[in-house]
Amino acid sequence: MDEIQEIKNRLSIVDVIAPFVTLKKTGKSYKGNCPFHSEKSPSFIVTPELGIYKCFGCGEAGDIFNFVEKKEGIEFAEALHMLADKAGVVISEKRGENTKPIFEANKLAEKFYRFSLLKTTEGKKALEYLTKERQLTLENIERFGIGYSPNSWDQTYTTLTKKGIKITDLEQAGLVIKKNNGYYDRFRGRVMFPFYDITGKVLGFSARSLDKNDGAKYINSPETKIFTKGQTLYGLFTNKKGIRDNDKALIVEGQMDVISTNKAGFDYAVAPGGTALTKEQLELIKRFTNNIILSFDSDIAGINALKKSIKLAEGLDINIKVLNLENYHDPDDAIKSSIKKFETMVDTSTDAYSYLINSYLKENINSPTKRKQTAKEVTEIISTISDPINRDYYLTQLSEVLGVTKSNIRLTRSTQNNPTPKQIEVKGTNEEVIISILINYPNFVTKYENEIKKAGIEVKITDKELKGKITMLRVGQVQDDAENELIKRLSTIITKQLEKDLKEASKAGNKENINKIVLEIKKIKKM
Ligand SMILES: [Zn+2]
Repeated sequence: MDEIQEIKNRLSIVDVIAPFVTLKKTGKSYKGNCPFHSEKSPSFIVTPELGIYKCFGCGEAGDIFNFVEKKEGIEFAEALHMLADKAGVVISEKRGENTKPIFEANKLAEKFYRFSLLKTTEGKKALEYLTKERQLTLENIERFGIGYSPNSWDQTYTTLTKKGIKITDLEQAGLVIKKNNGYYDRFRGRVMFPFYDITGKVLGFSARSLDKNDGAKYINSPETKIFTKGQTLYGLFTNKKGIRDNDKALIVEGQMDVISTNKAGFDYAVAPGGTALTKEQLELIKRFTNNIILSFDSDIAGINALKKSIKLAEGLDINIKVLNLENYHDPDDAIKSSIKKFETMVDTSTDAYSYLINSYLKENINSPTKRKQTAKEVTEIISTISDPINRDYYLTQLSEVLGVTKSNIRLTRSTQNNPTPKQIEVKGTNEEVIISILINYPNFVTKYENEIKKAGIEVKITDKELKGKITMLRVGQVQDDAENELIKRLSTIITKQLEKDLKEASKAGNKENINKIVLEIKKIKKM
């Protein structure tokens, strides 16, 4: 690729690295403290002649592209564009994918919105909301690029088209809406929060209404060529350094949470922006840290979101903790009460699996149905843990909470290590199997009611340990193709019982009974 070589020729690696590392010239090379590991005496060497850097402490090495990728947490394509801009090299875009005009439209819109907030009479109301009601400083507002869209049908688009942006590009950026023969501004009279990509380019906006009677408190940019829901994180650009330095990311619900935590000194929060946390978003975070702390409501919706996040994170090898907000409505609420307290909450956040197991214990008290459901889900989640030692650790915890012996939990494990088993191994005593059938297959029970009665099994569940077992059985043996295996097992149990009856009937010489039992056995064998 010529473009890469051209960029390398135009930029000195020393200029690229200098903003991050204090470099001292030694002969043909430069030396400094490595930006990728912490050290007191410099072992980071930059050789401009070769256009490379190498750290003799941690082994990091590469060219300008590697450096920018690693330092900014971006991928090659993004590093290429960033350095191309810096070098003044034009990168040939793939046909049909030219997104530059959309980025340009967003960039100017952000500028216009910020001007409207800070320099116009109309913007004062919005500024007051931010500084008085939300208690933000001008620095906060600046740091997150917050602005205001005038309450007008055409101010945004007349201003931006005057500045040379094509109306079609404004439409593609989602800033205006086409109607009949004209266009009108999408965002009117709203506080504007820009969404940035990881390099700081504006992808779209989230807009908050100032009118309490407005039906839609927040509206977002529509999906565009550059803005896809669930693929961007609010606050990541601003907080990425904090995330890397603290080696953790705090996931909060909305943009105001990101801004208020940042203001209080917690510069490592991000918000999914109106969606549940997605795999793409976790992959973005993973560029900076493997540790995330979730701060969600502890209500049902919050717990469900947590479960989903855990499943996603496990596949990506990300550690999840959960911040318990106690009785506070949101992080801002907790911070307002005491920054120190919020800091303790962050530091003492519980690991996600323990949190879920404990939440099970809570549900347990409320209702048996909920308890069963939660237990099922917790075990499902535990079964996704790839590390066997960790998996065992949490199974032990779960067994303690359930009051079930670990061997019974193992009984469910055998089916869970293999997500889609061809053959289900049904272990446990006869009672357990029947109970499992009762719980898992109510229809099956109606179908085979007589047979179950014949097996002479009475189901009375009073024992606490047995209750736990039932839950475990339910959890472990709910598999689509388990029914056949259960039928097989049931028929064995019944056949044994019938054979016993048959022996007795033979002993007694009761021919009528013998015939009846033989018929039954034949029927069961066909089951
Ligand atoms: Zn190093």
